[in-house]
Formats: sequence, structure tokens, C-alpha cells
Amino acid sequence: MRNLKFVGWLPLLIAGLAALTHADAPITAEQQAAFTPQVVLDELMAGNARFVSGQSTERDLTARIVQSAAGQSPKAVILSCLDSRVPVEKVFDVSIGDIFVGRNAGNVSNADQLGSIEFATAVAGAKLVMVLGHTSCGAVAGAIAGAELGNLTQLLSKIRPAVNAVEGYLAEERTSDNSDFVNAVADRNVAQTITRIRTDSSVLAELENNGDILIVGAGYDLQTGRVILLQ
Ligand SMILES: [Zn+2]
Repeated sequence: MRNLKFVGWLPLLIAGLAALTHADAPITAEQQAAFTPQVVLDELMAGNARFVSGQSTERDLTARIVQSAAGQSPKAVILSCLDSRVPVEKVFDVSIGDIFVGRNAGNVSNADQLGSIEFATAVAGAKLVMVLGHTSCGAVAGAIAGAELGNLTQLLSKIRPAVNAVEGYLAEERTSDNSDFVNAVADRNVAQTITRIRTDSSVLAELENNGDILIVGAGYDLQTGRVILLQ
């Protein structure tokens, strides 16, 4: 009787494990080709919802290493701030082989980042380009405060136009201590980076115009873990 019960459960167990394994496997080239940019965006936002609610996928990373070693077909490329509190793969509940991530303090555009995003999309087939800023960004606060330090000075100078572009604050409110202003500049900086992607990369502009990729901006909330898409 005990054996019969075990035999009854065995197929369910195998099916469950197979489903888990399938759900967690790296994206194949065929799956990547079938994705639309909007589906990729929807999946990333669903992954963020799992992350926020503590329902992140349990993964066998050792298996992932083996499964992904032969090649990669990531679905998205995300240009994120450097901040240690924005672990991009975790934020979207994705894993090895799922997304490209480019990072620098303040998620600014430059030729090397553009070349990387061009590779990720035009060569490697990613369907979504996301620029991801976040609340309480130190790089943004530094740009507002006019901080200067070595090579950081020229990086922060790229954020300055976003500082100047934000309206609706009195002169005394436009400080790095004002979190509302810092967060408004962070959002504006994301929009500015997207503009630069479109104007400085004809490759990416053409992919977007053809509907092959979406380029979107988003902000990560350090308080909640939630990603908010920016218009
Ligand atoms: Zn930051």
C-alpha cells in the first residue's frame, strides 16, 4: 500500500520538477526570437512584482551556469545606476543569461555604453532597452551639489542638464538635501539618457523605429523595491 502511494505521487513529482526546470532554464534563441518587446517588458515588470512581494523564483544557480555556458540569448539590456542597493537581476527576478546589465554612477549615456547596448540588441538580439534610475541617487545628489572629484567631475557634468531642466521648485528647494527634488532630477536624468540613446545611436534609433526594440525609462524605489515605469 505504501509503495502504491509512492508510485502515485512519483509522476506528479517528476512533472513538478520538470515544470520548475523548464521555467527556470535560460532563454533559448528560439524563445528570444519569438518575444515581442512588449512581452519582455511585461515579464520584467511581473518579475519585479514577485521580487516586491517576496515571491522571487528559487533557482539552482549551479545548473544555470551549466545551461548557459554554451551561449546567450538575453531578452533585455538594462542601463542602471551603480548603486549597490539596486541589484538589477534580483530586482526583476531574473538570473544568469537572462539580461545584459550596463552600469555607471547616475546611469548616464556614453559611447561605450551605447556600443554595449548596440551589441546587446543588434548583435545579441535583446528586445528591450531600459534605463533604470532610482530614488535617493547619490550621483544625482552630487550633480545637484556641484561635487568635484577626479574623473567623477566629468561624469556628474552629464547629469547637470537634467538638474537645470527640472522646473517647479524654488531656488532654496533645489538642493541635494531635498529628496523630492533629487528624485525629480533622477527621473529627468533617465529621460535625458533615453534622448541621448536615440540621438547618439542611429543603430538603436532605427531598431526602435522598426519596432524591433522598445526603449523605456524606469525608476527603482529604494524604500519598496518597486520599479515604476516613466512616461
Ligand atoms: Zn544612483
